[in-house]
Parts: sequence; C-alpha cells; structure tokens
Amino acid sequence: MEGTVALTVVVCCACGVVYAIPTTLDKNLLEKRSSTNTFCPNSHTWHYVGQSAVERERDLHRQIAALKEDKRALDRRLALAKPRAARKPRLVKPEEASA
Ligand SMILES: [Zn+2]
Repeated sequence: MEGTVALTVVVCCACGVVYAIPTTLDKNLLEKRSSTNTFCPNSHTWHYVGQSAVERERDLHRQIAALKEDKRALDRRLALAKPRAARKPRLVKPEEASA
C-alpha cells in the first residue's frame, strides 16, 4: 500500500504521551471542540477547549449586529434630542414674565 498521510503531533493533557494523529482528524477535533472526544494511546479522553474558528466568527457577527442595533437606537435618540437643543430661546414679553 502506498500513499501519504499527513500527521499532526499532539500531547495528551492527562498523561503527557506524545503521539501523532491524522491531520484531518486533528482539524475535525479543532472544529468540533468539546462536542467531539478522542483518546490517547493510554485511553485518556480529551478534546480541544475553547471556541472554534466558526464559533468565534458567529459570535463576532452577533456582536456586530448588536452594536449596529445600539447605534441605530442612539441615532434615533440623537435625532429626537437635536430639535430641542437647536431650539432658539423665545423672547418673553414683560407681561408674560410676571404672570
Ligand atoms: Zn493520556
């Protein structure tokens, strides 16, 4: 049998054994993070922690959408506040001032 398999070196976080897994498996583990476990040669279960690149991107899009909505709300408040701020002082006649 001939062929080439790309391997990625990993270290078990439980026992420290250094071993290699197919790079395609490593990419899959990196994508799926805590939802997919694998095993070291000594039978310890492990998975990558943290957010995957896809999850990070999804969260950033959500943050951008929330910030855009905040900006729209602030723009509406600013638009409502501007006419009041721009209003000219009204001259008060002496008879109105004493009333
Ligand atoms: Zn181990």
